[in-house]
Amino acid sequence: MYFRLAKRMLMETDKRLLWKLAWNMGVKGLFSVQKHKRRLRQGQFFPPYLYISIINSCNLRCQGCWVDVSHQQQKIDVTAMNRMIGRAKEMGNSFFGLLGGEPFMHKELFEILEAHPDAYFQVFTNGHFITPEVAQRLRKCGNVTPLISVEGSEIISDQRRGKSGVLSATMEGLQNCLDNKVMTGVCTSLCQTNIDDLLTEQWVDRLIEMGVMYTWYHVFRPVGPEASPELVLTPDQTRKARQFVVDMRCKKPIIFIDAYYDADGRALCPAATGFTHHINPWGDIEPCPVIQIAKESIHDSRPLDEVFNESEFLKDFRETAARHTRGCIVLERPDLIEALADRHDAKDSTARKSAIAELQAANAHRSQYDPDSIAIPEKSWAYRIAKKIAYHDYGVYGEHFEHKNWMDPDQKNPAQHAQPDVPSSEAATQGNGSDLVQLK
Ligand code: SF4
Repeated sequence: MYFRLAKRMLMETDKRLLWKLAWNMGVKGLFSVQKHKRRLRQGQFFPPYLYISIINSCNLRCQGCWVDVSHQQQKIDVTAMNRMIGRAKEMGNSFFGLLGGEPFMHKELFEILEAHPDAYFQVFTNGHFITPEVAQRLRKCGNVTPLISVEGSEIISDQRRGKSGVLSATMEGLQNCLDNKVMTGVCTSLCQTNIDDLLTEQWVDRLIEMGVMYTWYHVFRPVGPEASPELVLTPDQTRKARQFVVDMRCKKPIIFIDAYYDADGRALCPAATGFTHHINPWGDIEPCPVIQIAKESIHDSRPLDEVFNESEFLKDFRETAARHTRGCIVLERPDLIEALADRHDAKDSTARKSAIAELQAANAHRSQYDPDSIAIPEKSWAYRIAKKIAYHDYGVYGEHFEHKNWMDPDQKNPAQHAQPDVPSSEAATQGNGSDLVQLK
């Protein structure tokens, strides 16, 4: 499988782009994480990976979207982007996620990408603006990978994304990237209406046949003014998604990204661990893209590293989240986010000014943290090693998490579970096989 994946990479992607990926994202990305660890040991903080929503506008109207896409256009200008990226690079960062709205609606997107050939960018896009000319320019840049979202069949895509003909326009943009040998990924926000179609080997095989190099299954978060909680996965479906990814990593010559688990299959939240925070189109610094409250801004007069390092709000967010769950605080405990905003007098960073009301109206749901089940560790040695080195909790949960603080969203009671989230490799040494079925 590893050989087939390496062969695909070499044969199907522009070699210059592969080199950029390996150096800017691989080698330098690894160094940025090592620097992050060193900073943490010294009591300093700066996230090694920044999500930046560069524009609020979008041509689609997706269910559960949290961005003010209909509001007057707001974008981060080139000067502010260059200043922010430049400072982050000085801190050792090399890898940035660009979101929207739809990032390709930002007229100066290429100016930003081209100004930083020593960094690597992942652009989260619906693909609709990727014409053959745009794809050629992406190839010329070399330091960017489009991550194109596919949300289901033609009918489901139209329903999920609020417009007709969405899937075919997305697939056209995807094909333009692949025709130009651009390193391209496909992501899906798994929910009730697409899990049966897209969490399948057939779909993964189709991506491979097309020439897609990596895929990323997110999990739908019911946020925003039209949260659509009916789309949230059940705990069994969340577990099925985790098992699928772990199994396919050993079987299919395509890279699977995930952000919710460490090498041992223990749940984590990348914002609670401090791996990432988010900047919105107004420059507000938020804990993560779907938590729309903020105290600080990239437009502060202080240098960006000082802003992050001195933020009591972000520190409190990380500790509050990590103290109460290894999962997603947005899904499990919207009440804690509301209390956090209150404690710090943080502003509602949306244009619609209803973030707090949305938190108050939100129901609690189970997330990736599942104390009723055995954790599912990585089976692939490559992912195990990569996660052990560069993607874990950086000691955050050991310092803050106590299972007694966990509130079961299904029961709204303090946790009663004896032994949470133990990797099966460890659990296997603790009892006979029947113990592995349920820990409860
Ligand atoms: S709080 Fe939830 S949505 Fe935000 S980064 Fe953590 S797991 Fe993801």
